[in-house]
Amino acid sequence: MWKKARIAILLAILLYVVVDAWRDQNQNWTRPIAVLLHPINADGTAETQAYIQQLQQYQFGEISSYLRQSAQQYGQNTHFLMLLGRPLQVLPPTVPTQGGIWQSIWWSLKFRYYAWQQQSSVDPTATVVLYLNYYSPKTRQRLVHSTALERGRIGSVNLFSDPQQNAQNEVVIAHELLHAFGATDKYDLSTGQPIYPNGYADLQQQPLLPQHMAELMAGYIPITPQQSKMPQNLEQTKVGAVTAKEIGWAK
Ligand SMILES: [Zn+2]
Repeated sequence: MWKKARIAILLAILLYVVVDAWRDQNQNWTRPIAVLLHPINADGTAETQAYIQQLQQYQFGEISSYLRQSAQQYGQNTHFLMLLGRPLQVLPPTVPTQGGIWQSIWWSLKFRYYAWQQQSSVDPTATVVLYLNYYSPKTRQRLVHSTALERGRIGSVNLFSDPQQNAQNEVVIAHELLHAFGATDKYDLSTGQPIYPNGYADLQQQPLLPQHMAELMAGYIPITPQQSKMPQNLEQTKVGAVTAKEIGWAK
């Protein structure tokens, strides 16, 4: 009797895990996508605090319309809703910069536990939750790489707390958001250079270099085979065909 009950419980858990993973990897794009953004004062400065206090939800509307238009190019009629959530006090666990597979598995478990801990009943239910870690450009010149998990649909995004960086922050947020739907990076991890052909926005362009736009998941605009520059805003980026396939916008 007990043995049967135990087996039934284990099967139920297994079914839940399988369904949960399947759902995370097969987004239904006909339903509206709600993205909850939690700002975090990551460097603890008064400057970053002031920046977070002036943030308004409508400022993230640029990302919604960009994604809506990008999805439309692949025949998907999807609405994106960017919701500004509560500021949080605790930073997500630091992304391991080196180390093997076990370290990243351990980190992803810690990150999912963090997301579970930070959840509050006042938060609206969202398809994706992004933790926006803001740093003042005065305390940090470069930001470490952001990361998002497809399993669990959560992301830890490092941004600058400077209004002049808002447009570039939007590029970073959109990039990380698509990671949460299964898009892969399209740049060389050692050099940062966009990879040809998947990391190029316009393969028909003659001459091919310099490119005028960035493929969103390549993150940079290739200028020469060795040089690239960061796009200024989302208008200088494009969701390429391979990325569209990875996230399920295209077959
Ligand atoms: Zn990336």
